[in-house]
Amino acid sequence: MKISHIEHLGIAVKSIEEALPYYENVLGLKCYNIETVEDQKVRTAFLKVGDTKIELLEPTSPESTIAKFIEKKGMGVHHIAFAVEDGVANALAECEEKGIQIIDKAPRKGAEGLNIAFLHPKSTQGVLTELCEC
Ligand code: ZN
Repeated sequence: MKISHIEHLGIAVKSIEEALPYYENVLGLKCYNIETVEDQKVRTAFLKVGDTKIELLEPTSPESTIAKFIEKKGMGVHHIAFAVEDGVANALAECEEKGIQIIDKAPRKGAEGLNIAFLHPKSTQGVLTELCEC
């Protein structure tokens, strides 16, 4: 597959409102969008850093995978998302062929309406990995 850049870093936070002042007032980044992804039970806030984004993930329910992540590991980096140039479906097929454990068998729509799919951290050296259409 061909990866062009890191599309975003997903960071688990307890509260977007509490996290944003650090990103905006200390790092000088600007939040340009906040949206709730109902089926994932998360609220997301996006900030741009060059071609890469920071995606803050706040759980909207204790059932959310983000709530469980924070409970287990605390707040912090949750996943890395790579932008793939030749399509998420092709990249997934290649991963499957190479024995990588896949979470999403087919691409689905993520935040911002982009096609995405997740690879399991068990077969990606411990980092939850998202493939993202660019
Ligand atoms: Zn993501």
